[in-house]
Amino acid sequence: MSARVSQRRDFNIVVLGAGGVGKSCLTAQFVQNIWIEAYDPTIEDSYRKQIDVDGRQCMLEILDTAGTEQFSKLIDSITLLRELYMKTGQGFLLVFSITSQSSLYELQELREQIIRIKDDDNVPIVIVGNKSDLEEDRMVSRSKAFAVSQSWGNAPYYETSARRRANVDEVFIDLCRQIIRKDNSGYT
Ligand code: GDP
Ligand code: MG
Repeated sequence: MSARVSQRRDFNIVVLGAGGVGKSCLTAQFVQNIWIEAYDPTIEDSYRKQIDVDGRQCMLEILDTAGTEQFSKLIDSITLLRELYMKTGQGFLLVFSITSQSSLYELQELREQIIRIKDDDNVPIVIVGNKSDLEEDRMVSRSKAFAVSQSWGNAPYYETSARRRANVDEVFIDLCRQIIRKDNSGYT
């Protein structure tokens, strides 16, 4: 049915997770190849970057979300906003920090919210354990995170370091592959 797609296509990607896990640092490393020690935690912005995924030109529109904790008074509008970008997002990077157990638990709620809002339990998701350079402060074992990823229908799990730019491209590329695979399976 679909024309064979050789032209560029767009991917709507949303970066979600608790405050301070490194969402903005990961996004900046991916898009601009820069490391900034301290981002404004209230910044919520979108960025575009074109990459090659298995020979396809992919234009990524990446929304770097801010946590809700800074906006408790605006909670209703934040909830609405979140519902909106969960609806339009095609793939989600769910980011926690390997130095924080609670940041992994927070992803559970986010995932449930995504599934509920999209009414689809097969949404492209990649789980990202960031700050892998802080091995000495690790609070979440690889096996724990891997068990979570398996319980989520085998969502891929990567450990990244935004600081060292380790595995940064890989998580975005894997997410694009999942989106492509899901789209293709819709036509068969
Ligand atoms: P966000 O709230 O999820 O957007 O988190 P930020 O990207 O603003 O990062 C929060 C803090 O974690 C900042 O002080 C960063 O310097 C630090 N950070 C982010 N990524 C890493 C990482 O991979 N390694 C280390 N050591 N620190 C990081
Ligand atoms: Mg941020």
